[in-house]
Amino acid sequence: MSANAENTAFRAILVSRDDNKKQSVDVVTLNEQDLMPGDVTVEVEATTVNYKDGLAITGKSPVVRHWPMVPGIDLAGTVIRCDSNAFKPGDKVLLNGFGVGEVHWGAYAGKARLASDWLIPLPTGLSAKEAMAVGTAGYTAMLCIMALERHGITPASGPVVVTGANGGVGTVAIAVLSKLGYHVIASTGRPSEEAFLKGLGAAEIIDRKELSEPGRPLGKERWAAGVDAVGSHTLANVLAQTKYGGAVAACGLAQGFDLPSTVMPFILRGVALLGIDSVMAPKPLRIEAWNRIARDLDRTKLASLTSEVGFDDIIKTAEAIVDGKVRGRVVIDMTRA
Ligand code: NDP
Repeated sequence: MSANAENTAFRAILVSRDDNKKQSVDVVTLNEQDLMPGDVTVEVEATTVNYKDGLAITGKSPVVRHWPMVPGIDLAGTVIRCDSNAFKPGDKVLLNGFGVGEVHWGAYAGKARLASDWLIPLPTGLSAKEAMAVGTAGYTAMLCIMALERHGITPASGPVVVTGANGGVGTVAIAVLSKLGYHVIASTGRPSEEAFLKGLGAAEIIDRKELSEPGRPLGKERWAAGVDAVGSHTLANVLAQTKYGGAVAACGLAQGFDLPSTVMPFILRGVALLGIDSVMAPKPLRIEAWNRIARDLDRTKLASLTSEVGFDDIIKTAEAIVDGKVRGRVVIDMTRA
């Protein structure tokens, strides 16, 4: 790469805060020299907007822990330079989490400088944009499904409920579970999206109000397992209505971070609550999850749950996702304004 290319300016979104901790978001122009330290520099081809990115840009929750910050927790791109043996220029790579977009400058810039340990090769069979259509949300959905499988859940165990059905985690979970042969019950606050959710593979739709209010410690046994992106009363009710010996993978807090539950599902029905973290998940687990995504996620369904915009729409999309107005996944094509 020539010195000139190194000096080529690129656009970035920068989140800052003033002495009174008032947050502001600006589109700025950066050079490579401005980037944080790391042994690998990547040209960002595609990224996405996750719920967490929405929180970082709007400042609604304290996601950003280093100021100023270039947000963006997911990226796919091409290695420009690598100071270790991990990658070589031209390699296609993928990054999810590891505190990028929270404590280390992230994806919403033409280039990113990162630790090569955080990157994995772009899985065979997935384009940069497809990987970002999946993003952390979809990779987390796969981590949830793998955790249920490790617990012994199979399609023969019974139905699986997916909460936050229209969201990023929910849509990918529905698509993968249905391809694997599960009977999927989708819980949503947007029943108008029934046709979309059924198109993804949901067999039944329930109104999320059935789960979002305070409920009884134990209810009728309705499902063998759950993928929960919502937390709070919803997770408590999902646990209370899980069949004997079943399991629920909990990854999100769209309703709240509280868990107003009792021990009854655990001690009377042997239900397991499986915690899912994508950010610091070890590399072998990540690689396994991404290989499973490449194998078990129907590309036509992925396309049907994905919309695509350019850099200029990142902030608008971040606001919409926090307002619960985004359906499925949004890919940001960084080669487009
Ligand atoms: P989205 O915003 O795309 O989806 C969340 C969905 O939850 C919404 O589409 C909506 O679905 C539902 N929802 C929103 N608000 C409420 C509410 N007040 N009560 C009940 N349901 C609600 O987010 P993602 O799918 O990207 O992420 C989902 C959650 O998972 C987030 O909390 C996120 O922080 C977390 N997460 C955690 C990860 C981890 O590593 N543990 C990684 C990735 C995400 P509908 O309209 O269908 O009801």
